[in-house]
Amino acid sequence: MSDIIQLLPDHVANQIAAGEVVQRPASVVKELMENAIDAKATTIKLIIKDAGKTLVQVIDNGLGMSVTDARLSFERHATSKIRSAEDLFQLHTKGFRGEALASIAAIAHVELKTKQEQDEVGTQLVIEGSQVVSQDIIVTPKGTSIAVKNLFFNIPARRNFLKSNQVETRHIIDEFHRVALAHPNIQFVMYHNGSEVFNLPESNYRQRIVNIFGAKTNEKLVPVNEETEVVKISGFVGKPEYAKKTRGEQYFFVNDRFIKSAYLNHAIASAFDGLLKDNTHASYFLNLQVDTKTIDINIHPTKTEIKFDDEHTLYAILRASVKHSLGQFNIAPVLDFERDANLDTPYSYKDLNSPNTPKIEVDRSFNPFQEKQFSGRQTTAFKKQTPANWDSLYVGLESKGTQTQQDFSSIQFESQEQTGSIFKDGSQVETKQTTFQLQNKYVISTIKSGMLVIDQHRAHQRVLYEDFLQHITVKESMSQQLLFPVQLHFTTQEIEIIKQVKQDLEHTGFQFSKISKEGIEVSGVPVSVPESEVSVILEQLINDIQNEVPDSNFSSTDLLAKSMAKSLAVKTGQSLSVMEQEHLVNSLFGCKEPNMSPTNKTTFITLSVDELERKFI
Ligand code: ADP
Ligand code: MG
Repeated sequence: MSDIIQLLPDHVANQIAAGEVVQRPASVVKELMENAIDAKATTIKLIIKDAGKTLVQVIDNGLGMSVTDARLSFERHATSKIRSAEDLFQLHTKGFRGEALASIAAIAHVELKTKQEQDEVGTQLVIEGSQVVSQDIIVTPKGTSIAVKNLFFNIPARRNFLKSNQVETRHIIDEFHRVALAHPNIQFVMYHNGSEVFNLPESNYRQRIVNIFGAKTNEKLVPVNEETEVVKISGFVGKPEYAKKTRGEQYFFVNDRFIKSAYLNHAIASAFDGLLKDNTHASYFLNLQVDTKTIDINIHPTKTEIKFDDEHTLYAILRASVKHSLGQFNIAPVLDFERDANLDTPYSYKDLNSPNTPKIEVDRSFNPFQEKQFSGRQTTAFKKQTPANWDSLYVGLESKGTQTQQDFSSIQFESQEQTGSIFKDGSQVETKQTTFQLQNKYVISTIKSGMLVIDQHRAHQRVLYEDFLQHITVKESMSQQLLFPVQLHFTTQEIEIIKQVKQDLEHTGFQFSKISKEGIEVSGVPVSVPESEVSVILEQLINDIQNEVPDSNFSSTDLLAKSMAKSLAVKTGQSLSVMEQEHLVNSLFGCKEPNMSPTNKTTFITLSVDELERKFI
């Protein structure tokens, strides 16, 4: 056999890496602006043409680069910001991967101009698709200008995938806001197609917020300030009466880095508990300063998620501080602030860090198909009833990822061998029911070591979510033609949203015969969707997309699957037949991640016989 493995040439490796770093023009904006901040610039200009599709340029007055560094900066893993793995735990810069410039240069035409203060002249470098086209000595002011033109020129598929100019511009402005809010002490200017869109002078935090979101914002802000050993919190929350239907103005910064955290967001939401009208969301602009050693920002290439050592404490402090502020400013009707607030953590989050996995003893010798344990009659009955279920149960367990493997491989459904201990009569065994419904909300299923209590709505969401995701991803699904197309009316903005996700919707089985300004006409629906649910699903979807914090790696696929799962899942209060219950249990454990709903809520808990016995003492 001859050898067949080859190292990829650098420009190919860069192009692949670029896929992760650069999703759209806004990603370039973020990387370039962050580099300018790392270079200690005090003025940063962003110039955009055609929503960044033609040009993204960032000009800064920072440290600049030497000739050698200018050249090196475009190499992969070339960074001046860390030298060893230990440095990762004391990051004071935005960048550290040394990937951005190399990635950008692999998929665009890049022109760099840079000069350090002490140098007479600077360097100009032109790179196209990772190839250096020219390098010259030029006269240029101190600092760096990087112009990125014709993004994705060599990856037409990615270029075509870009959304309308309107949508891409919104993403760029989102990034611009995030960076500008994190650094009020830096002047930011933004131009789009030749006109100035923002000019944010150096200022304090309140002024920066007002300069971005308009003069009216000023009266809406309530300051939040709290200093503890773990974290220093500063910033503002919006007064409850100004809460919005969409989540647009919600910003967390940790050590000056914009982050997203559903968990911390929940802390704020719970501080506002009882103060907001239904379906509205409070605004917030909060900076958390924590010891760099206690966070890990390395978990996501686009770096909007970070891991905290002690998220629970942070949650409690954040919630208490916001409550305190609302109370102080006489906004909260009752002042129930307690400095040492109990960790009022929603149970769905408690297990996120240290999954409290069901510990159920494994009886490895147990084999449901071992016939000799049953009398002839019982075996037949057993086989008739459940082989399909057992199959699907094991299919799910096998395909589980390594991370969750341990968690569920140990769940073993109660075997028939134990039956008949109370009811000696064989006929009882045949009809033995192993699932029950409690209050039309939970499905109880007996397992070998005790019982499972499954939240039917959440569990079904998980099942449908994985199912939809798969259909959308493999792009094949069954559609059911409607005899009479369903006409639906939406606002122009809502129709724009439908257009954006039209393709994904079609992959789930939807068919549209018309999408126009006046409304849409649905001519086909996924087989699993009843015609009567069509409008509910689409309305829910639009609402979910509008309320989702727009981010650079916005995945409409995921959102769509979540939203449809939510609309279609059996509701709390719905009664289920025994067959439906069994089917739900089996499908849940056929899922890749059965323990969490698509929105990370616990789907089931276990209660072991041991625990039960302890209660009977
Ligand atoms: P990272 O920011 O992760 O280090 P980048 O690819 O973004 O990686 O940048 C590579 C290097 O190029 C940086 O470490 C820095 O030394 C240099 N650099 C990039 N942009 C600038 C800039 N605007 N001013 C000065 N140096 C820069
Ligand atoms: Mg960088």
